[in-house]
Amino acid sequence: MRVLARLVCTLLPLVVFLPSCSPPASSPVADVPQTSTNSDTAISIHLELGYPHDADTTDDFLVVRPQYVASFSYKRNTPNWVSWNLNSDWFGDVPRYEGNFIVDPMLPESFYHPDHNDYTNSGYDRGHMVRSEERTKTPEDNRSTFYMTNIIPQRPDLNRGVWLDFERYCESLCKDSLKQLFIVAGPVFSTPQPTIIGQHIAVPDSCFKIVVVLDRGQKRSSVTATTPVIAVMMPNRDGVRKDDWTLYRSTIDDIEARTGYDFLNDIAPSIQALIEAK
Ligand code: MN
Ligand code: MN
Repeated sequence: MRVLARLVCTLLPLVVFLPSCSPPASSPVADVPQTSTNSDTAISIHLELGYPHDADTTDDFLVVRPQYVASFSYKRNTPNWVSWNLNSDWFGDVPRYEGNFIVDPMLPESFYHPDHNDYTNSGYDRGHMVRSEERTKTPEDNRSTFYMTNIIPQRPDLNRGVWLDFERYCESLCKDSLKQLFIVAGPVFSTPQPTIIGQHIAVPDSCFKIVVVLDRGQKRSSVTATTPVIAVMMPNRDGVRKDDWTLYRSTIDDIEARTGYDFLNDIAPSIQALIEAK
């Protein structure tokens, strides 16, 4: 799977925009699966449960790495979502990457390239979606989490407080309960004119995370109506540092309504309907 993901990486400069369900006939990305319903067409383990998409795919630039898949918005200069697999195998003991956050070389030249300095003195942390600690098997894995396409502006009380609290809970599911998680996280924008920091970085009002909890070795076909899912939506503001993450439980349905994205769309619709409502 990693070899395949790397192969996709090398091809990715040719893939300009995330294909929608019904791409135009002239789409240059016809070879990319529209919805990967067969495991042999899935382009990455990180998209095992689906390929989140919304009605307007023109601002969904797909960045595929061995460590995660991100959809980047050139309008907001943040990811729309980041999707990744997590289990205890991803955790190791390499030290945290030291240095500035990294301009993502996989973005097209025509895009603004968010950089470390966009966040400096903004009042917002560089908030990882894939957490640094979740990619600590190799230095390359850890470094990959510092690309700006994995980062959104988060208030310190969120990033260092309740968001971290939930990240630690996910870590314990992997290490203590030996679960395998499929995670999607990203920003929620409630207004068309969000606050801007740095040159062009839009600040989300909230941040969401969806976690599907499976056992090790289980994949898409193992998801049933009783599969545990955890959905949270947390406000991007001060005053939440000491809050318990369970205060912010939500539903996937609610997150889909707020973001416009359809998640878990490779799960059978009847099962999706059940697990997204709970
Ligand atoms: Mn963080
Ligand atoms: Mn869905």
